[in-house]
Amino acid sequence: MRIFPRGIVLVFLGTLTAIWTLATWQCTTDPVKDAAPKVDPPAEAAPARSESAALSGREVLEAFLAAYPGRFRSVELVDGDWSIAGDGVRFFWAGGRLLPQTALAHRDKYTPHPFYRSPAEQPPVPEYSDGEKIEIRARIDHREKSPPARHPGFYNYVWQARDHKSAERRTQGLMFLGKPVRVSVALVPVLRAINAEIVERSRTDGELKRFVASIRELSGFYWRNIANTGSLSYHSYGAAVDVISRNPKRKETYWLWAKRRDPDWFTRPLSTRLQPPVSFVAVFEKYGFVWGGKWFYFDTVHFEYRPEILILSGRSVARPPAR
Ligand SMILES: [Zn+2]
Repeated sequence: MRIFPRGIVLVFLGTLTAIWTLATWQCTTDPVKDAAPKVDPPAEAAPARSESAALSGREVLEAFLAAYPGRFRSVELVDGDWSIAGDGVRFFWAGGRLLPQTALAHRDKYTPHPFYRSPAEQPPVPEYSDGEKIEIRARIDHREKSPPARHPGFYNYVWQARDHKSAERRTQGLMFLGKPVRVSVALVPVLRAINAEIVERSRTDGELKRFVASIRELSGFYWRNIANTGSLSYHSYGAAVDVISRNPKRKETYWLWAKRRDPDWFTRPLSTRLQPPVSFVAVFEKYGFVWGGKWFYFDTVHFEYRPEILILSGRSVARPPAR
């Protein structure tokens, strides 16, 4: 049964599939409505069935193997399912659930992690018919009411953290684009490479230079569990950075805040959003970070380290130069 018209399906498959990334909730206050209550994020929805189905288990696990060579050793078919082996652990694809052997017996308790291909360019906002708008609003409401329950073991293993304390021990502070930020120790060389390249490009790219000068603060490591879910934010691992810049025109940076102002927030053009220059995003992507501005549920200050997503999208990911 076709639930959505083709155009909408494409939008959802292309960008809404980044639902997992909604685990990376904003850590800042709404710049437009400063009195906004602390956001307790609405639960993520279970991803559409097609989201994980569009990519095979083998494809996704091989992308992880290529993306985190220090954490994983092999991808193999075991007991009829694709699996990925690391140090003394094995995770099974389990329909996108990424489960350790011990959780396979009750796999139905867990929601699949969504994986997606990231578009090379930021997708424009489509023209929606009234019917499409109603369907999208219904889908967003449903999403808020259907919290996922994802098994945290896989990402805990990737980032070597299982609770606030162990996560914090794996972080390190550094200066990035002139501001302090705390991130996973594994990402310090990556951010240093991004910093060097942005500084270098700023010499000849006026727009980039102005944007960097407009950065007010950064937010990296920030432990949080999404309300009512077992899903940890990427900020909890120090694997996401929010780049918060001055916003004199009070443009939108985050879909949830935009939604409070306008139930049809998703129809508003990109020009209503505060966005870093394309060249800024390009340097982050080059080194394995995806940008929240390309998501249907946009978060334009948010960058998270997802080299596997870029690999799945046919992009190459640069390693930071050896020091
Ligand atoms: Zn963020």
